[in-house]
Amino acid sequence: MSHEQPFSLVITGARLVDGTGAAPVEDATLVVGGDGLVVHAGPGDRAPAGPAARTVDAGGRTLLPGFIDTHVHLGVESARQMVRRFEQDSTVEVFRTAERLRATLHAGVTTVRDLGGLPAGYRTAVERGLTEGPRIHTAVRILSHTGGHADFTSECGFDPSSGMGEIADTPDEVRLAVRRLLRSGADVIKVCATGGMSSPYDQPDDEGLTEEEIRTVVEEVARHGGRPVAAHAQGTAGILNAIRGGVTSVEHGYGMTARARELAGERGTFVVPTLSTVFDGIDKATMEPHHYEKKVRWSSITKENISAAIAEGVRIAMGTDAAMVPHGRNLRELTHLVALGMTPLQAITAGTRTAAELLGLDGETGTLEPGKRADLVLCEGDPLADIALLADPANVVLVAQAGEIRKNGLGA
Ligand SMILES: [Zn+2]
Repeated sequence: MSHEQPFSLVITGARLVDGTGAAPVEDATLVVGGDGLVVHAGPGDRAPAGPAARTVDAGGRTLLPGFIDTHVHLGVESARQMVRRFEQDSTVEVFRTAERLRATLHAGVTTVRDLGGLPAGYRTAVERGLTEGPRIHTAVRILSHTGGHADFTSECGFDPSSGMGEIADTPDEVRLAVRRLLRSGADVIKVCATGGMSSPYDQPDDEGLTEEEIRTVVEEVARHGGRPVAAHAQGTAGILNAIRGGVTSVEHGYGMTARARELAGERGTFVVPTLSTVFDGIDKATMEPHHYEKKVRWSSITKENISAAIAEGVRIAMGTDAAMVPHGRNLRELTHLVALGMTPLQAITAGTRTAAELLGLDGETGTLEPGKRADLVLCEGDPLADIALLADPANVVLVAQAGEIRKNGLGA
């Protein structure tokens, strides 16, 4: 960049929703420095002037922080394919995963947390610019007890998931498992505190790791510099074990009763309700029968408990469980959060600032404020008036990461 161009990107004429939860600013200007960090995000008449390498006229569209999906499985195409991974050619799978990364980025998601099935090499590949994709935090594999949610082994002893699980059954084994996951490059540890919907041999109400084992995971991670611990937890007993064990987030949380919500509030535990996977695509024709039956039963329980969690102000971060629902439609989740009681502004905050807090990245991304990375999206229309606009990737006309434009549908 030459000395004559101190700014890498300037966007003018935008309705700015900055992700902090503040009211929108009309006719705003965003100025990005040569280092990819935000210099100014606010009223246009207060923006610093100077030449920029690139200028974009937002034309009244809405400028938002890049979204963060805190629960995806980018290494897996679908629930059905998860138990047929052994059939995949591993080289072809790398290219298919790269396609899913690009589709997710182009849907407006500039950062993801992958909670099982994505090797850390994908994080490195995105960092080095070998492929385009959201910035990645990955759990690599899923920690579960023998026969638990992430033990896909069939009755005849065959693992069709090709090693998505990390199996441990005692506190000592759990410590060892955490060490193996850290060695594999995990940014977050994913534990199974209950059974689940997609697993054939258990139920959401079945308990997974014990409270003691979960506490051991949290301790072992803390002894190695600390990282978030995410608990797959659907039934009430397992949710309580997870919160008492000290996890950072309860994933799914369908059985979050009043007691569990109260405890989450006291402990500051995040909840990632993955409503897309509860309410989208329930289809008898395409789903495994056990998966279909569980989903129908749990959708009404979820509606009741998550609506209450929203009303009570539990810390909710956006996550979809993409793979269980199609990739690249991540921002449909915002529509579901609004349907259960959030305002559009609250839903956007759940997918930006709160999600960044959950990942420990709130010093860097999640809001458009001076000093933050210019991870952003430009959306047609006003999503505060119609949150469903964001659900259609065609309306996400511009996506940038640290000021670098990754998608440009403006034709300019
Ligand atoms: Zn998941």
